[in-house]
Amino acid sequence: MYPKKTQILSHVERMESGPLDHLERSLLNYFTASSLNRQSAKRHDSDLLDERLRKPSSFLIPVCQSKNLFSNGDGIQPVFLRGPDADGLLAHADSITFLGEMEGASYFAVGLTDDNPGFPDALAPHGQFKDLKSMGPLLDRQVGGLLAYARAMVHWHSRHRFCGDCGSPTAIVDSGHRRVCTSGSCGEQHFPRTDPAIIVLVARGNQCLLGRQRIWPKDFYSVIAGFVEPGESLEEAVVREVYEETSIEVEEVLYHSSQPWPFPGSVMLGFTGRAGSSSIMLNDHELEDARWFTREEIIAALKQGKLRLPGKISIAYRLIEDWFDAGWPICLGAITSTP
Ligand SMILES: [Zn+2]
Repeated sequence: MYPKKTQILSHVERMESGPLDHLERSLLNYFTASSLNRQSAKRHDSDLLDERLRKPSSFLIPVCQSKNLFSNGDGIQPVFLRGPDADGLLAHADSITFLGEMEGASYFAVGLTDDNPGFPDALAPHGQFKDLKSMGPLLDRQVGGLLAYARAMVHWHSRHRFCGDCGSPTAIVDSGHRRVCTSGSCGEQHFPRTDPAIIVLVARGNQCLLGRQRIWPKDFYSVIAGFVEPGESLEEAVVREVYEETSIEVEEVLYHSSQPWPFPGSVMLGFTGRAGSSSIMLNDHELEDARWFTREEIIAALKQGKLRLPGKISIAYRLIEDWFDAGWPICLGAITSTP
């Protein structure tokens, strides 16, 4: 289904295999590269949920308060329920979404209601609900993509119980992929949404621009990111965000790759930018600090424990990694312990 090159080559091998196209680059980002077939045409079948939810070949992915269910103990795995284990879950479901099919099995996201806060305890024998962002590095990539998809759909359902036009309750249709206003005089349709956010590695010679927010852990720095605003292109958002946060003028913007980022409902659109200026001023106070880092400074700070970079599951890390490794004898992955 996807180019095999991205699935089997190590980072070093990729660097030597020539340029990747954008599909291949994006497939290297976590939460992508799932071989799930979404089977979008089947969503319209009104009998699909009744026919499949309790079949032995169907797996239900529980999501509660934006967390996924993981097994206890060593070898942590996500918990998918089926058969008799699924009955209690379905009884407390706030939303059910058909995600698609993979290797002959059907997958559904099940969002739990908040009106029975004790129910998640009933699932305790199966495991605990945990944040996908922290568990991502421990997961198989296919599974990580599936959980991210489930989390995003459940989040969308939880925020669209009422019509944004008239305030009436909405009802779920199309196997969880559409909500319809129940008011006869309105009937507005609501579809799952994703908020676009840009993220950019800005470089100037042998330096890259990294910043930190006050709320982040000590010594944690990352690339510049922000939401795309109405009425601007992605590239304009890159230029605006970097200038607003650091006063750096970006002269050249190139697309890199994208990553679904369901925390809670974004797609990250990754870019690289060439700086046309070097003097940093923190304009909008979104950042507590921003600096230029050379590769040598990054290596030294990492070794001294004075710098922490984004986790390897993030596109932020990939942007830094690709910039760092280009034309450099040492791979960033070899000197970062960040999972
Ligand atoms: Zn309405």
